[in-house]
Amino acid sequence: MGKPLRRWWQAALAGFGMLVATSASAQLFDMSRLDGDPVPAQVVSGGHQSEFARVEGQAIHETSSRPRWWRLTARQSVSPAESPNLVLRFPYLNHVEVWRPGEVLPVRRGLVGSDADPDFSTRALVIPLPQGLATGESIYLRVQALTPSPMAVDVEPLTVVHRQDLRHVALRTFVLGTLVVLALLAVGFWVGIGERSYAYLFLTLASQALYLACVGGEVRALPWLADLVGADPRVGRMFGLLGVLASNSFVALYLNLPERHPRFMRVLHGCNAVLLVLLLANLGSAAGWLGWLANAVFLVSAVTTFVASIAGAWSRQREAYFMVLSWAPMIALVMLRMGELLGGWRNPEWMEYAFPIGLAMGGLVLTIGLTDHMHQMRRDRDHASRLATYDVLTGALTRSAINERLEALADAAHRGRRPLSVVFFDIDFFKRINDAHGHRVGDQTLRIVALRTRNRLRTYDLFGRYGGDEVLVVLPDTQLREALCVAENLRAAVNCRPLSIDNRLFSTTLSLGVAELHHGESVEKLLERADAALYASKAAGRDRVTGYTASRLRTTAATPVANTANAHDTSTVM
Ligand code: GH3
Ligand code: MG
Repeated sequence: MGKPLRRWWQAALAGFGMLVATSASAQLFDMSRLDGDPVPAQVVSGGHQSEFARVEGQAIHETSSRPRWWRLTARQSVSPAESPNLVLRFPYLNHVEVWRPGEVLPVRRGLVGSDADPDFSTRALVIPLPQGLATGESIYLRVQALTPSPMAVDVEPLTVVHRQDLRHVALRTFVLGTLVVLALLAVGFWVGIGERSYAYLFLTLASQALYLACVGGEVRALPWLADLVGADPRVGRMFGLLGVLASNSFVALYLNLPERHPRFMRVLHGCNAVLLVLLLANLGSAAGWLGWLANAVFLVSAVTTFVASIAGAWSRQREAYFMVLSWAPMIALVMLRMGELLGGWRNPEWMEYAFPIGLAMGGLVLTIGLTDHMHQMRRDRDHASRLATYDVLTGALTRSAINERLEALADAAHRGRRPLSVVFFDIDFFKRINDAHGHRVGDQTLRIVALRTRNRLRTYDLFGRYGGDEVLVVLPDTQLREALCVAENLRAAVNCRPLSIDNRLFSTTLSLGVAELHHGESVEKLLERADAALYASKAAGRDRVTGYTASRLRTTAATPVANTANAHDTSTVM
């Protein structure tokens, strides 16, 4: 390992150590645990002293949901002067009955349900010790652990309890508020845009918020849900399962796994199938192994999502960058939590906040990522619609685009009894240019002809490439007489001077056909007449304009440019 890298590692480890050290407090109690559930009166009166086994540390950690006894024996006295309280931090769904020294009846505490104490936040279970504690005195706790994570044990004066509670409420409000706002945004986008990934994102964020509120105790603010959650871990677990299910579906859609990584897709599908079974099983049973299995499926889903995101980012998939950013902190936290549950080490207490904050920040990154995805899709759609509307070579409207607009203009002209004319024109002997000079010069000719002719039109006239070297011009509010002038102008624009391409000069000419919309006439009929007029120009020798009057075709002779202004006056009847 290089020197600078080693220094980084050392600094990181030192920082981590300091964080752990600051969260550890002095040993207040000798902790011991009784593996069974005898009659409380016997335990409290000292009947089972020898069966208590010593436990290291200052935390109550039960992985079974069956009631277990804990004895906390004071290593030093606690003065009653500062209103001391026994504090069990991060109890989640756990319930305790606490026998203070010399008392026969227990104090019951839980974050939610009838044992909840609304005087304190959901940070900890708080049991006042009004008499303080003498050295060697014991507190007995009967613990029903519905959440298999450790509860840190401490004694805090009332002022400290309130201060810590305020901090806890601020942090949890920030996290839950962020998740709720993001979920509302997602549902708003889902309804507004109709994009399915927003529905999955909404389900993920809403389930995560409800899961956190259930296990963290804030759900007690919603009495109807609090009664359900009370002592039933199934409700929180249900939201947790729903969250993972929705997240997997979101990931598959957002990363386009069916097309890009079908293997990861199959793993997530498998996870979702197990999650559905677990959801059903969870309705009928509160067994602890369901929680463990759910955690295992969550872990597989998280790792699959992360690996799929890394693979996507590796192949420069834009969405995958957001996924990696969103999931990397979560993966690290999940690993640390797994280490705590399986490897037996104690994580620092700030980890209890890091997980929900990680969820909220991950949700924020995904919302930004999804918005970016939508933006990209809109850009692609705009590009596709541009391609469908405008001809790439000449910039003229495409055939379908000009047809659609002509229909609308013809309708408006009929309704408003306004005139409308069309001009069809076609380059004369264009094939010869292609054959003699190649397609590239042919393309360039098309571009220059389009440029010269379009410049002679009004801004509201329509100009569309009808196919090959044939162009349709639509002239709203224009009678045949004026349209013939415009057509003559277009002809002049091309044959007035040769085209210059690659330092070579080419002469080219146009043949044009003009027709005015008749009362009640269809667009097809109008175009047919303009096309017949164009054909007549070709037949009459090219480089000329033919107008289709009521029943006759009138063609102008090919004239010198200077004389074109009165072209229709010098017309000949075919
Ligand atoms: P006419 O005077 O009878 O119109 O003779 P013409 O040679 O122009 O015949 P026509 O209009 O039927 O030929 C159109 C030719 O245009 C056929 C095709 O090779 C060519 N063409 C069509 N689209 C393109 C294009 O995008 N680029 C190029 N360079 N040539 C094209
Ligand atoms: Mg042609």
